[in-house]
Amino acid sequence: MKQLEQKIIEEGIVLNENVLKVDSFLNHQVDPQLMYSIGQTFAALFEAQKITKVLTLESSGIAPAVMAALQMNVPLVFARKRKSLTLKDDLYTESIFSFTKQEESEVTVSRKFITAEDRVLIIDDFLANGDAALGLAKIVEQAQASVAGIGIVIEKAFQPGRNKLVELGYLVHSLARIASLSEGKATFVADPNR
Ligand code: 5GP
Repeated sequence: MKQLEQKIIEEGIVLNENVLKVDSFLNHQVDPQLMYSIGQTFAALFEAQKITKVLTLESSGIAPAVMAALQMNVPLVFARKRKSLTLKDDLYTESIFSFTKQEESEVTVSRKFITAEDRVLIIDDFLANGDAALGLAKIVEQAQASVAGIGIVIEKAFQPGRNKLVELGYLVHSLARIASLSEGKATFVADPNR
């Protein structure tokens, strides 16, 4: 998605060779017009998948995911991060290792919001090692629902997440694929469709 790549070039801050900061349009301040276009693009990419629900992780996945859900006319569910749980009966729970915090955290989804009939589109802001997307996929599988696809706003293609997800058979679409963050700038994977 050219508009997103342009925004990353203009406003993204390369913190180091592994981490990109996009606080001005996605992770802190949000650019609603860009999110709207992101929602339209996800809806087009996953049109054939008969999505019934979008699932993301709070908080940075919510803005792009709600726009995708709006375009697909389905509900958005966001998994909640909690430190500890006493009552787990009505919840699906997974432990996810956070790339940015470098610690495990428990994420939960109420059982009433994902059911066996659902075809779920998982959306997240970044793909690095794949832990967040895999944790969400495990929640969908706990519900005996189907993972109909995984949509990523910014994929760091030099990290192993995509390969892990594809090897497991998931359909993955990313809107910007970063080939490298070296020398303080983001370069993108060449897209033969453009
Ligand atoms: P993974 O679970 O695939 O290793 O990492 C994805 C998760 O970590 C995303 O939910 C995102 O919040 C965070 N993340 C991974 N890499 C980056 C990055 O370069 N920048 C930012 N802002 N977040 C990242």
